[in-house]
Amino acid sequence: MIDIKNYENLAKTYKTPLYIYDFDKIKNNYLDLKEAFKARKSLICYAVKANSNLNILKLLADLGSGFDCVSFNEVKKALISGASRYKIIFSGVGKTDDEIENALKEDILMLNIESFEELLNVEKIAKSLNLKARISVRVNPNINPKTHPYISTGLKENKFGVSINEARKIYIYAKKSDFLESIGIHFHIGSQLSDVTPILESATLVSSLMRELKALEIDIKFFDIGGGIGIKYDDEKTINLYEYAQGVLKALDGQDCTIVCEPGRSIVANAGEMLVKVLYKKENDGKNFLIVDGAMNDLLRPSLYNAFHNIVSLKNSQDLVNFDIVGPICESGDFLGKDRYLPNLDKGDLLVVKDAGAYGFSMSSNYNSRLKPAEVALINSEVKLIRKRQSFEDLIKDERV
Ligand SMILES: *Cc1c(COP(=O)(O)O)cnc(C)c1O
Repeated sequence: MIDIKNYENLAKTYKTPLYIYDFDKIKNNYLDLKEAFKARKSLICYAVKANSNLNILKLLADLGSGFDCVSFNEVKKALISGASRYKIIFSGVGKTDDEIENALKEDILMLNIESFEELLNVEKIAKSLNLKARISVRVNPNINPKTHPYISTGLKENKFGVSINEARKIYIYAKKSDFLESIGIHFHIGSQLSDVTPILESATLVSSLMRELKALEIDIKFFDIGGGIGIKYDDEKTINLYEYAQGVLKALDGQDCTIVCEPGRSIVANAGEMLVKVLYKKENDGKNFLIVDGAMNDLLRPSLYNAFHNIVSLKNSQDLVNFDIVGPICESGDFLGKDRYLPNLDKGDLLVVKDAGAYGFSMSSNYNSRLKPAEVALINSEVKLIRKRQSFEDLIKDERV
């Protein structure tokens, strides 16, 4: 992404661990997906949770992107980044009454309903505000997306969405209500999907429900196919965007609607890297460790999902050593990579953890009272600090003694 000398300069200037994002890549990832859907009206709603830095949201808002939000704070971040309110969707199984009220007052595009009880609650709140809530229903198609169980969301044992039958009941109820307006239908079956088949099977099921609703004079305008497009962290297969878009069109079988897509990972993952520095090298009975200054609090995915991130050294060498790359946190699960062949590095050497733009900083925490890392962006070959490193004062400022 950038040359070695620059990584060293970045480490000197901004210290490590450091997140580095390439804004041209984010832009191209967005435009490639938009292009794939150009045959039809489409709305790309970037999933804010993947990376919610305001600069990234603004970059996408300026390109015309909408946003898929899973808390009202994400809705606020999207709005202050310049997003059109009519391109904001509010999803999630546990929206609070306050969040629903605020979202309705902001007049965003729609709320994704995840249960009958939530529907009744939204109706009640809309009635108290004397307005009509635009809704979409998240259908759980009970189709196995064949991804990690923690990021699988479209099976009946997952907490997300409602069955086709329950969805039908929700739409019929909403049609009779003065305070509800059904405008969308939604599914999102999981993340890091490498195969289009389960997505297209879901699309076909949900599309046939949409057709049925039409017969009941319930006119759905937004067909929301969720996110989940996988990326290549290692040697995974990836989804061909053209095949994906064509498959969705085929599932729609001529029905007129706007296709909504909610990608998070595929927009930002490969545009981000985490730069870390070797603190110590250690050998336990033939097992070699590189202890680096980035840890599970900075990048949780390896610890949480045993996820693979490529880790590259800035040094070249023919003599490679098998290392586990671990952080300073007091947990055996604190690792960034296991069994990696790297040059025999020393204290002060830098490592680049690749594809860390999605679910990286956004999942970071202060565990072990570690300070959250800084983030920089490469914008037209210039480096811009887009989040300063947390300070000790930031860390304790909410505590009351
Ligand atoms: C997380 C999420 C997404 C984005 O998923 P990616 O795998 O990052 O593309 C989209 N829609 C909903 C409802 C989500 O919860």
